[in-house]
Amino acid sequence: MNIKKVMVIGAGQMGSGIAQVCAQAGFEVKLNDLKEEYIERGMAVITKNLTRSVDKGRLSQEEKTKILSYITPSSSLEDASDVDIVIEAAIESMDIKKEIFQKLDKIVGKEAILATNTSSLPITEIAAVTERPEKVIGMHFMNPVPVMKLVEIIRGLATDDEVYQAVEDMTKALQKVPVEVNDFPGFVSNRILMPMINEAIYTLYEGVATKEAIDDVMKLGMNHPMGPLTLADFIGLDTCLYIMETLHDGFGDDKYRPCPLLRKYVKAGWLGKKSGRGFYTYER
Ligand code: NAD
Repeated sequence: MNIKKVMVIGAGQMGSGIAQVCAQAGFEVKLNDLKEEYIERGMAVITKNLTRSVDKGRLSQEEKTKILSYITPSSSLEDASDVDIVIEAAIESMDIKKEIFQKLDKIVGKEAILATNTSSLPITEIAAVTERPEKVIGMHFMNPVPVMKLVEIIRGLATDDEVYQAVEDMTKALQKVPVEVNDFPGFVSNRILMPMINEAIYTLYEGVATKEAIDDVMKLGMNHPMGPLTLADFIGLDTCLYIMETLHDGFGDDKYRPCPLLRKYVKAGWLGKKSGRGFYTYER
């Protein structure tokens, strides 16, 4: 299975990063989102990242121009008709992902792989809405995509070995390190990370310490590169809430109940860095 053409769905934080690393590795990329302005925003982030690499001497101006030329904007899912793989990075909602996969299943060629960058939703359930569950797989990149080495590759119940192998090979071609995991809520990464972030939010909610103090304890005491509340802001508080709800529903265990403060911030539109305000405020 030879992957050359890729569609990335969602030009947000993750989708723009995935499109960038695919283009850097020489894949032809279609970057899809609901509105042209969202794609333009994603392209602006990619251009800024590449310009920074040029300024630091890691990339030439010619290479930057070539990488950008590999990415084509797309505002229609129909553009996926000739791609070898779709990597979906729309928002973390089962309903939206199911709708996208159902549509894609009818658009892409019969050999095409449908991958999702979901942080926690069951791959097997997403696969079940298609006529090709053996070609559906999880490809969980970490944020920020151009920097982080790990890609968790999640096999659904029906995923073919050949499809797994093709996605593992592609991951290596992107200069990333694949790690194979099975399909359980939150996989490995978010099953461990999110309850820690949620507990940090409870610690703030219960007035145990200030946000700065909580982050300092985990940075200085546990050698984490950033505190859990800062990390939550970077991930997006809406995404954190979706993941906690998925763990809570999936395991039916109250130890995964989302903190009410997290719910309140999301309802207020305080989604973290991407909205300019979360636990901290950010210049936009
Ligand atoms: P985001 O909100 O930054 O971007 C989501 C993008 O998807 C938006 O631009 C939105 O317009 C677009 N979108 C929504 N519905 C769409 C549709 N039907 N068709 C096309 N585009 C659509 O979110 P994000 O942080 O980039 O997260 C995207 C996915 O990646 C989620 O599933 C999330 O769980 C997962 N993920 C996030 C992180 C993280 O740290 N943020 C890490 C790993 C995985």
